[in-house]
Amino acid sequence: MQGLVIKSTGSWYQVETEDGTVLDCRIKGIFRTKDIKTTNPIAVGDRVEIELEPDQDTGIINKLKERKNYIIRKSVNLSKQAQIIAANLDQALLVVTLASPRTSLGFVDRFLVTAEAYDVPAGIIFNKLDLFSDEGLEILAEYEEIYTSIGYPCYEVSALEGTNLEQITDVLKDKVTLISGHSGVGKSTLINKLIPEIELKTGEVSEWSDKGQHTTTFAEMHPLPQGGYLIDTPGIRELGVIDIEKQELGHFFPEMRQLMNQCRFNNCRHINEPGCAVVEAVNEGSINLSRYESYLSIYHGNDTRS
Ligand code: GDP
Ligand code: ZN
Repeated sequence: MQGLVIKSTGSWYQVETEDGTVLDCRIKGIFRTKDIKTTNPIAVGDRVEIELEPDQDTGIINKLKERKNYIIRKSVNLSKQAQIIAANLDQALLVVTLASPRTSLGFVDRFLVTAEAYDVPAGIIFNKLDLFSDEGLEILAEYEEIYTSIGYPCYEVSALEGTNLEQITDVLKDKVTLISGHSGVGKSTLINKLIPEIELKTGEVSEWSDKGQHTTTFAEMHPLPQGGYLIDTPGIRELGVIDIEKQELGHFFPEMRQLMNQCRFNNCRHINEPGCAVVEAVNEGSINLSRYESYLSIYHGNDTRS
């Protein structure tokens, strides 16, 4: 039988089969991810083959289908192992706020770089529209211009008041979407509005109890009323940027990517090299300064702006 992993605790996996039933499954055999060492072999979004256990109530995962992409976070220990958060994403949306709390553009840019590195299309949801003053709306328009002009769609919503949520509903339809954001930005409020049945607790990290154990969920995949799934990552503050080679970093900034072949030097770092097309574009304003500052910040490894 084929199935889709929709929940994981580490030892048990909930797998939705083609007829829509959900089975608790365990793993048999060894599953390895190419290229990286991972602490968990299987994550939500994985497509698997399962076999029923003799009791018919539970199943065994015996095959993992190839992933089109996956996102990880670095393990807290220093073993260089990574945890796979989710696989086979169609898109990733970052929920941000310009006030209470304010999401920094550095944080937004790190998220976007990560999404580029994982090959997942990304977009930005500006929440708490109801709190914006006229001045706030101007800043919002500026920010939106920065990101839409380089290919990241932006949405303005008020999760609390339900403003513009139909745009989000459309974007999510029939897709597997990861939704991410700092705590406090209103992610739970938004998910509750999009999927009225689930009632996530707002204002705290969600946990779920499985077979008597109390386990923090790595990620959960919620079916959407209009088709598609929303992947929530409770407790995950930030996606881990996989080890990006410094020379490659520019490729994950779309506005730099298309200029880089005009730099005088092949191995241009886009910092202070003569004839750098990127620095020239920054100076003449066609590349946004704050984006370029994020590039420098990530390049130099001070990616702690949050
Ligand atoms: P999460 O940590 O991102 O899941 O954020 P929550 O959904 O728990 O929301 C944090 C706080 O922001 C709560 O007090 C919400 O009521 C509030 N909030 C969420 N969305 C909005 C919104 O659109 N406008 C306003 N004014 N407050 C909101
Ligand atoms: Zn350059």
